[in-house]
Amino acid sequence: MSAHVPTSVDPVFLTELLKAGGENLKKCYQCATCSTVCTLTPDHRPFPRKEMLWASWGQRERLLGDPDIWLCHQCGDCSVYCPRGADPAETLAAIREVSIRHYAVPSFLGRLVAEPRFLPLALAIPVVFILAVLALAGTLTLPKSEIVRLADFFPHAWLNGSFSLVFLATCGFALLGASRFWRDLQRNWPVPGTPRGLFESLLPVVNEIITHDRFSKCTAHDHRYLAHLGVFWGFICLLLATVVAILVILLGGDYPMPLYHPGKLLGNVGMVLLLSGGYVLLKERLSTAGKTSRSTYQDLLFLSILLTVTVTGGLVQVTRMANSQSAYYLYFIHLVAVFYLLMYLPYSKFAHVLYRTLALFHARRTGRL
Ligand code: SF4
Ligand code: SF4
Repeated sequence: MSAHVPTSVDPVFLTELLKAGGENLKKCYQCATCSTVCTLTPDHRPFPRKEMLWASWGQRERLLGDPDIWLCHQCGDCSVYCPRGADPAETLAAIREVSIRHYAVPSFLGRLVAEPRFLPLALAIPVVFILAVLALAGTLTLPKSEIVRLADFFPHAWLNGSFSLVFLATCGFALLGASRFWRDLQRNWPVPGTPRGLFESLLPVVNEIITHDRFSKCTAHDHRYLAHLGVFWGFICLLLATVVAILVILLGGDYPMPLYHPGKLLGNVGMVLLLSGGYVLLKERLSTAGKTSRSTYQDLLFLSILLTVTVTGGLVQVTRMANSQSAYYLYFIHLVAVFYLLMYLPYSKFAHVLYRTLALFHARRTGRL
């Protein structure tokens, strides 16, 4: 099935993988235990053994256009059973991280988000952006009124307008990166003459995303599946609650919404789900932080931003109801974190929602899954 794939060795790519968390990949002696224990791999040309081989050779093109690296959910089963401690789960995570950087448009944003030394700059951008919008809106100083109203600090029209504009640009960049990834998928694993139908391919992908049914088959770290499911549904609930809030504002409804409003209830359910799942994932990552290097940085950063968005969102709600001025400061931090999460989506670990969905669709379309 694989055709016309350049197989040249790229030592720079190999070095990138080693730095991104694949430092044990050279220990692999190709016993194939990992592919045997992986419950998510298809039987035909299973992963991750072949990826370990390609990675140790530094075969850049083979790996970047390999849908299998995105079919892996980093459950860790293969690493538990690997007799050599080659850590195939972390190697695949490192390949995904390097892939995200490779497909980043513009490329400097990929580096900005991936490298710890640029973190202050990556955080400074949303801070400066928000301050500039506040200056334009004429609300750079904290409101003097005794009643805390967040709209007095950041008027809704300015908030929704400025964030929507930047997010639209982000979506455009994400589409450019995704189209380059799709082109490489097609080169490495061409769609057969009679591929599965569009809906026949798409429906199982949607089902998998909302149920995580393939992820649930992992055994060694089965709690990761539940934690990830919690984070996923928590995020969806918060996203829907935000859309409801924007609609209420646009339609001139009662805002801030009362606690019993369905949109508010949805947001609070989402907050609990995301906090619970995020806490489990972060705790696990911290407990293994010493074993890996930069892939852990990306994992930790993404989870930290996600949890910051959630925690500050909850605290803003409480302090606003208590009429405390600290609500404004918390709101500012909340917005910086929201900006970071959404506007850097194609460059952070969050990009897996994009590339994994495409890889799953490609795998269904070609009959690989
Ligand atoms: S990664 Fe480990 S289990 Fe997999 S082939 Fe290499 S040595 Fe064997
Ligand atoms: S981490 Fe899990 S899903 Fe990924 S290759 Fe290993 S066993 Fe398979």
